[in-house]
Amino acid sequence: MRILITGAAGFLGSHLCDRLLAEGHEVVGMDNFVTGRPENLAHLSGHQRFSFIRHDVSNFIFVPGKLDAVMHFASPASPNPNSPYGYVNLPIQTMKAGALGTHNSLGVARAYNAKFILASTSEIYGDPEVHPQKESYWGRVNPVGERSVYDEAKRFAEALTMAYHRYHGIDTRIVRIFNTYGPRMRLDDGRVVPNFIKQALQEKPLTIYGDGSQTRSFCYVDDLVEGIYRLLLSDEHRPVNIGNPHEINILEFAKTINALLENSTPLAMFPERRGESDPERRRPDISRAKEVLNWEPVVSLEEGLRKTIPYFQESL
Ligand code: NAD
Ligand code: UDP
Repeated sequence: MRILITGAAGFLGSHLCDRLLAEGHEVVGMDNFVTGRPENLAHLSGHQRFSFIRHDVSNFIFVPGKLDAVMHFASPASPNPNSPYGYVNLPIQTMKAGALGTHNSLGVARAYNAKFILASTSEIYGDPEVHPQKESYWGRVNPVGERSVYDEAKRFAEALTMAYHRYHGIDTRIVRIFNTYGPRMRLDDGRVVPNFIKQALQEKPLTIYGDGSQTRSFCYVDDLVEGIYRLLLSDEHRPVNIGNPHEINILEFAKTINALLENSTPLAMFPERRGESDPERRRPDISRAKEVLNWEPVVSLEEGLRKTIPYFQESL
């Protein structure tokens, strides 16, 4: 296949490029580097089946030659207002990437009669009343809350994807990604995994927002990419959760990082970002992925963190 990946210079996009090239496909990467970095793709420079177009997907997309699939991953993804790369600080860009960017990506898929995959998110469930979250749950998002620029853009993107599927017959997929981590995350994007690892490596206090009782479920990037690749090859049009159901609270997570680094830096408690701006619990129900993709994660949290830490050590 010849595949366009928007957001190719980001954390997930760059790993997808690697996997698709390893499977023998041809990849066209597209990015405007708003949160991504050329370094993430530097190793692909000169690769015969890889090309790159610097472009903002909020504007009309033109890709010369045919395409068999379009994977729309372009969007800021970190919620942390303390980082310049947090979507709260890129609110208009985030809404445009989710709304106009999805429209343009669907448009190019339609022009080439290509498959389309939308990178959606567990954030479409908002601060959920249902636990764990199943795809059938409609979510609880505050439309004017701090995170709404991301959550509502992704909800709109899902609706637009289904409209193109139902009205234009486009062969679409929607992956609802839960917290994923691994090498090539930005050290400074403010998400909890790079924050804690960086702080621990620098022997600074680990910054816990609130009392740390809020939970997340962390998936190692290779597991996620496997799930997405299987989804691409499937004919599932309904949204599919891809994530690791192993749930841990943020306090325990901080202790795990300290233990892995044989570190004893203190934990620093900061005012909570709870309620509408910091979901209290999050864990995917992955029964649909198991059933239709025969997929489940295989990398444990400890194993995944051990694979990730050297990358951050080197970056520092
Ligand atoms: P990232 O910030 O590393 O990558 C996003 C990439 O998109 C960056 O390279 C950025 O420069 C690019 N981009 C943003 N707006 C653009 C635009 N208008 N035009 C062109 N490129 C643009 O984040 P990530 O973690 O790799 O996330 C990738 C996708 O996966 C996003 O759509 C995100 O919403 C989704 N997602 C990620 C997670 C996760 O845990 N990593 C969870 C849920 C959903
Ligand atoms: N968090 C934290 N300290 C940090 C960064 C994040 O306690 O330095 C918390 C954050 O409040 C949230 C969880 O860790 O409850 C996960 O945050 P992240 O930014 O990774 O993404 P989210 O899952 O909220 O989208």
